[in-house]
Amino acid sequence: MPLAEQPSTVPVVVDNDKCIADKGCRVCVDVCPLDVLRISDMSNKAYMAYDECWYCMPCEVDCPTQAVTVNIPYLLK
Ligand code: SF4
Ligand code: SF4
Repeated sequence: MPLAEQPSTVPVVVDNDKCIADKGCRVCVDVCPLDVLRISDMSNKAYMAYDECWYCMPCEVDCPTQAVTVNIPYLLK
């Protein structure tokens, strides 16, 4: 049976292989006006802590390694 909640269903997905939060980067956390992005204590990578998003995009645009993907809902495009 497929899992109901795949990571891709979250509006903002971080590619852990590209994220350099373990080297001190906090750009996406700092630029998000809703303060929904966090650095994981477990993996030391950025992730979306709360499923709220304005789709304002600075987290994706400002990430120095292009690790962030904002999945804009079809109706907002
Ligand atoms: S801006 Fe990019 S590299 Fe920096 S913590 Fe966020 S996802 Fe990771
Ligand atoms: S798109 Fe905007 S509101 Fe959504 S996570 Fe990125 S910075 Fe925060």
